[in-house]
Amino acid sequence: MNAQDLPTPTTTRPAPGKLLFEAPRRGKPPRHLADLSPADRKRAVTEFGLPGFRAAQLSKHYFERLVDDPAEWPDVPAALREQLYKTFFPRLMTPVREITCDGGTTRKTLWRLYDGALVESVLMRYPDRVTMCVSSQAGCGMNCPFCATGQAGLTRNLSTAEIVEQVVAGARELARGEVPGGPGRVSNVVFMGMGEPMANYKAVIDAVRRLTDPAPDGLGLSQRHITVSTVGLVPAIEKLTAERLNVTLAVSLHAPDDELRDELVPVNTRWKVGEVLGAAWDYAHTTKRRVSIEYALIRDINDQAWRADLLGKRLRGKLAHVNLIPLNPTPGSKWTASRPEDEDAFVRTLEAYGVPVTVRDTRGREIDGACGQLAAAG
Ligand code: SAH
Repeated sequence: MNAQDLPTPTTTRPAPGKLLFEAPRRGKPPRHLADLSPADRKRAVTEFGLPGFRAAQLSKHYFERLVDDPAEWPDVPAALREQLYKTFFPRLMTPVREITCDGGTTRKTLWRLYDGALVESVLMRYPDRVTMCVSSQAGCGMNCPFCATGQAGLTRNLSTAEIVEQVVAGARELARGEVPGGPGRVSNVVFMGMGEPMANYKAVIDAVRRLTDPAPDGLGLSQRHITVSTVGLVPAIEKLTAERLNVTLAVSLHAPDDELRDELVPVNTRWKVGEVLGAAWDYAHTTKRRVSIEYALIRDINDQAWRADLLGKRLRGKLAHVNLIPLNPTPGSKWTASRPEDEDAFVRTLEAYGVPVTVRDTRGREIDGACGQLAAAG
């Protein structure tokens, strides 16, 4: 059956102000090589009745050569190829649509997964780097009212391989010279697509390992070039700290005070601003890495001078960097981006406190590929 004929699985929408921490269990995507650690790959190949070195060959073809056709596995006997391919490389996702802008250097792909669930990834090529923005869940259970994904609800967690495949797909396009600018490589990955990565902890951490293990075990990206963005699930941030990974932590703060954050990021009713920032500073001290504080500027909602001041006070002297994101209004939203003069004043206030701040570029906006717009709305 054509994957496009499959019905989309049920999505659960949390009631206003409610959260879904546990993703509904809706069956498992087929197992793929990218789900397995190098040791597990070896074990699986052995169970298949073959010598362990075949696992390393498959890893090399997938992670290093980015090949997706078994006919291009010269070191694997032709008689074994089909069965190995079927066993370790089931088709996990089918592109439904690719939309490009910025002269082809920004590309959003809508994927249909094995069960009909939809997710999106975005490739952004800059002069000095290529960033892939990936989804960690189909939908999201965190219910942030300004975010398109949050409004749609949660379908399910993605598997490790479903996350890795989004990056590998971009890596293949680049390697094959399909992205303007000549052949290239993915250098950065941000978990800022659909979903709350810290609510799908194990799959996300395993995906980070696949992305950062040196080739041929993994894609060989630098841990420092991976950003995990979270609404602030404190126990998961603590767990991440203990992993001793060198990834960048981004915290979606959006308000410096609990009253407003309770509304904008409903998980704040569970873990308050002080607790979230506390966990973030522990992460920063342990990893020596600057935490990125994400703040979507929403006109007359969170962009007042006193809130800039409070934010500056809370972040002053900390290992933090503020990333201001002009709100990208979702369809039907009553909210919009801040006035330029309010944005400027916000920046200046933070700078006066010595807090490093940048305003995020809004690449992909015209293809709904910008932050919070990955709603896969048909
Ligand atoms: N769930 C994670 C990652 C996904 S969203 C998180 O919340 O961090 C990536 C970033 O885009 C988050 O900072 C999120 O708050 C922000 N975002 C969501 N909707 C947005 C919108 N409409 N305009 C601007 N930023 C938005």
